[in-house]
Amino acid sequence: MIGGGFSGLMTAIHALRGAPHASAVVFERLPRARPGVAYGGADEAHLLNVRADRMGLTTSDVGGFAAWLDRRAPGRHEPSDFVRRRHFGDFLNERLGAMIASLRPRITLVRGDVVAVRRDADDFAMRLAGGETTRAAAVVLAVGLPAPSAPWSGDVGLVVDPWSPTAFDDLDASAPVTVVGTGLTALDVLVSLARRGHRGRVTCVSRNGRFPLPHADPHRSSAGAAAPPTVTPQRAELMRGPLAALRAVRVAAIAALACGRPWQEVIDAIRPHTTAVWSAWSDRDRERFLGRIRPLWEIHRHRAPRSVLAVVDDLRASDRLEVLRGTLLRVDASAGRRAVLLRCAGNETLRRSSDRVFNCIGPALRISENPDSLMRSLFDQGMVSSDAAGLGLRADADGCVIDARGAVRRDLFVLGALRRGDLWESTAVPELRVQAEATGAALARLLTDATHPMGAHA
Ligand SMILES: Cc1cc2nc3c(=O)[nH]c(=O)nc-3n(C[C@H](O)[C@H](O)[C@H](O)COP(=O)(O)OP(=O)(O)OC[C@H]3O[C@@H](n4cnc5c(N)ncnc54)[C@H](O)[C@@H]3O)c2cc1C
Repeated sequence: MIGGGFSGLMTAIHALRGAPHASAVVFERLPRARPGVAYGGADEAHLLNVRADRMGLTTSDVGGFAAWLDRRAPGRHEPSDFVRRRHFGDFLNERLGAMIASLRPRITLVRGDVVAVRRDADDFAMRLAGGETTRAAAVVLAVGLPAPSAPWSGDVGLVVDPWSPTAFDDLDASAPVTVVGTGLTALDVLVSLARRGHRGRVTCVSRNGRFPLPHADPHRSSAGAAAPPTVTPQRAELMRGPLAALRAVRVAAIAALACGRPWQEVIDAIRPHTTAVWSAWSDRDRERFLGRIRPLWEIHRHRAPRSVLAVVDDLRASDRLEVLRGTLLRVDASAGRRAVLLRCAGNETLRRSSDRVFNCIGPALRISENPDSLMRSLFDQGMVSSDAAGLGLRADADGCVIDARGAVRRDLFVLGALRRGDLWESTAVPELRVQAEATGAALARLLTDATHPMGAHA
C-alpha cells in the first residue's frame, strides 16, 4: 500500500478483512500519516467542506461520523454542520486506530517514501528513498493529489505548505502578506491569519480572482419542507457537452431560485451523475471544460461554509483585502523588504510589498506537470497509462490499473485523486469510501486466489 491517508488505510483494512491470511504494509512518506494531510492540519479553525452526516468511513455507515460527534458532545452539532477538520481527524485516529489494532500483526505501518516500483516475474519490488527494497504480491497506489508545481520556490518568505505547523511562525501581526490562489486552501490561510490576530494588508492573486461560493443557508433550505422538489437538469442535456451542461445548470438554478430553493441544490443534485456525464464527454469536450468552464464549476461545486467566508467579508469591511486577477511573476527579496511582482489582467505588472507569500495554488492539474520519482518509474516502465487529458491513471471499476499496452493489471491498483481522469469526482470521503471498498474487495479476491503466486501477502 503506497500512501497512508484515508484511501490507503481503508483499502488495507477492507482487503485484510476479506483475506484472513494476507498481510499488508502501508508506506507513508510523511511523519503525520494518520489522519492525513487534510485533517492533521495545524489550525483548530479549519472546517470540513462536507456536512458531518456525509463523512462516515463506510457506505454502510455514512452517518457514523455525525453519530460519533453527537456521542462526544451531545446536542452541540447538527448533522448538517460543517465541523472542524480536527474533529474528523480525531474520529479517524480513533476508528482507524481500533481497526488497525484488530488486524495486527497482519498490518504494518512504515514511514518511508517509495521512489520506484518494479514488476518482477512473480511479484513487485518497491524501492524506498533510503535504498531499501520491499517485495509484495500486489501494490495499491493511494498517493493522493499530485503536488503543486510552484515555479517560484526557494525564497525564505515563501510558504510552500500552508498547512505546515510553522507556516505562520514569526509573522508580524501588521505585516503585509500575499496569498497566491483564491480556492479553499487560500480560505484556510485567511482563517488562520484572522485567528492569529493578523491586522496587515492581504493581497490575494489568482487567475480568476474569485473565492468559492457559500454553501446554502441550512435554515433557508430546511424551511422548504413544503417547498417544491429540487430542480434537476436533464441528464441527457448534461451529457451533450460542457456548453450544453452549463446552459442546463443555469436554467435549473434560475428555476430553483424562482421557486424559493437555493441554487446550490442544483449542483448537489447533479453530483450522482457527474461520472456518467464525464464519461459521456469526448476528449475535446473534456479539454473545453478544463480550459474554459472548470474555474466556474470549481467555485460553485467546491463551496465554503458561510462562517469561513465571513472572514473574507471582515477583511473587505476593514479595507485590508485586495483581490487581483493574475499570476505571481516572482518574489523579489533584493531591495530590503520582500516584494512580489504580479502580472495582472490586462498585462499590467504590479509590485506589492509582502513579508510572507503563501502558496495556495492547489495541486497540479495534470500529472505530467510535476511527477515525482514514483510516477516517473511507473510511466517509464509502461506499468501505468494516463487518460487523454493527463489528469490521472486509467483503471477499471475495481481500480485495477490499465497499463501502456491497454492491459488491465490485476495486481496493481489505484484509488483516490489519481482516478479523476476516469471519474472526475474522486477527491472527497463520499467517493473515496466507495473506491476503498471496491479496491479492497478486489485485492482480497486476488490474495485468496490459490492460483496467485503469492496468495498470502499484500
Ligand atoms: C485542505 C483539505 C481539506 C479537505 N477537506 C475535505 C473535507 O472537508 N471533506 C472531504 O471529504 N474531503 C476533504 N478533502 C479531500 C481529502 O483529500 C480526502 O478526504 C482524503 O483525505 C484523501 O485521502 P487520500 O488517502 O486519498 O489522500 P491523502 O490524504 O493525500 O493521502 C495520500 C498519502 O500518500 C502519501 N504518499 C504520496 N506518495 C507517496 C510515496 N511515494 N511514498 C509514500 N507515501 C506517499 C502522502 O504523503 C499522503 O499522506 C480535503 C483535502 C484538503 C487538502
